[in-house]
Amino acid sequence: MGKKIIVAGLGHGGIAAAALLAKNGYDVTVFEKKEEGTLGYDWTDIFAPAALRIAQIPMPPRNKYEFKENMTFFSPNAKRGLEQQVPHDELEIKMERKDIYELFINHAVSCGVKIEYGCEVLSPIVEGKRVVGINTSHGEKYADLVIDACGMNSPVRRNLPKELGIENEIARRERITIFRAFFNKATDEEVEAKFRVMLLEDDRLGVSWVASEEEHTDLLIGRFEEFDLDEVNSFADYLRTKCPRLGREIVRGGQFVEIPVRHPLSIMVADGYAAIGDSAFMTVPLIGSGIANSLKAAKMLSDTVINDKDGTYSAASLWNYQVKYYRALGAGLAPLECVKFLLLTLEPEELDYCFNSGMLNEDNITMTANFTALTDLFRFDIPDLLNKGVQVIKKPKLLKKILGCGASIAKVTAACAAMPPVWNEKAVRVWADMYTKAFK
Ligand SMILES: Cc1cc2nc3c(=O)[nH]c(=O)nc-3n(C[C@H](O)[C@H](O)[C@H](O)COP(=O)(O)OP(=O)(O)OC[C@H]3O[C@@H](n4cnc5c(N)ncnc54)[C@H](O)[C@@H]3O)c2cc1C
Repeated sequence: MGKKIIVAGLGHGGIAAAALLAKNGYDVTVFEKKEEGTLGYDWTDIFAPAALRIAQIPMPPRNKYEFKENMTFFSPNAKRGLEQQVPHDELEIKMERKDIYELFINHAVSCGVKIEYGCEVLSPIVEGKRVVGINTSHGEKYADLVIDACGMNSPVRRNLPKELGIENEIARRERITIFRAFFNKATDEEVEAKFRVMLLEDDRLGVSWVASEEEHTDLLIGRFEEFDLDEVNSFADYLRTKCPRLGREIVRGGQFVEIPVRHPLSIMVADGYAAIGDSAFMTVPLIGSGIANSLKAAKMLSDTVINDKDGTYSAASLWNYQVKYYRALGAGLAPLECVKFLLLTLEPEELDYCFNSGMLNEDNITMTANFTALTDLFRFDIPDLLNKGVQVIKKPKLLKKILGCGASIAKVTAACAAMPPVWNEKAVRVWADMYTKAFK
């Protein structure tokens, strides 16, 4: 039997990495706190199907997915909607979350992965500076490598000793609280914008969507502050004045959850430890999509582990995984966090102006299945750039905010480019500090 690997939590990237490693002869066990058959949420998710191929997971049967509808974005006064223009061959797919889990788990088990359900991971076991295992509700578990796939609030990452230099906590505005539910349809009337995304609607600090589907109406409310069911009800009432299709009865879902919307962890690895998925904050900072990134990261991590022929799984050898992730995805996506901060500082009227003056266009909101960087949202189109310049110059306060955002993007981009290509503890710590400060 090959080296022993623990995957803490059955996160999407963790189970995909587990499958790739088990297929290559490693002895891999996943410890998941939930019971078998209870994973996932009662709603659908959207992700790029190419990520399945990269992680060597088979495509689901055709009746298990649909292609995603284009979203139409609205600013607070909702005068002008901007509809995404995704070419057909770059469409993401939409699947039930439970089916996604079933697909990943069946594949992993067929590759030889063992899963221990109903086992809560409590903390890492650390000897010196090396992670050697995990404490769980089923006792201590030891391994040559611990892959942390416990999600945003991972008890493994949060309890790592400070000396490892890995951020334990996530700040309030680096995560978004979501309420999501499928409501009944109040009417059968045709809807113009089927997938309606609303920014800073009714002055609320966040984003929400109402998607009119065949059998129900999908409501998602995201806020950068805590909120409760009273707020959900009052906001849903407000939305019903604009989207009469949104019924009153919750037919599926109806939970509060959280998603990290920030730059990836500055240091994702330590001796015997690697974080993946939400525990390493691998979502797209502006929209919180993390499934495809986690799958791509799974391939990078498993390749790195397999290439470590001596089986050291040291920070020095695992650093290559982090470098690969940043080069392919992290460095391109991290600057989106600056756009998120810009959005949070805009007055609703300023956002209206960006939409209504034509400063923002369909390209700027079109995220395709191939989307990997902020720059994918901009074409080098001189008339369009000139128009953006002319419009923004008329609003000095807005211009100042946009210039500030541009400066932050430049700082973050430069910080990502300066990441040490080879592990050197001192150099990595200095870099991580500089990178983290670039977002402040
Ligand atoms: C409402 C909502 C909608 C979303 N929509 C999309 C979308 O459309 N597309 C997309 O790409 N992404 C979407 N995401 C984000 C996506 O779910 C995550 O980015 C992605 O799943 C990667 O997270 P993860 O699998 O690493 O972590 P998680 O999904 O958090 O999984 C962590 C796993 O670890 C387990 N676990 C946690 N703690 C412990 C513990 N102590 N002991 C043992 N096990 C533990 C959990 O039970 C869970 O199984 C959405 C998220 C939410 C909340």
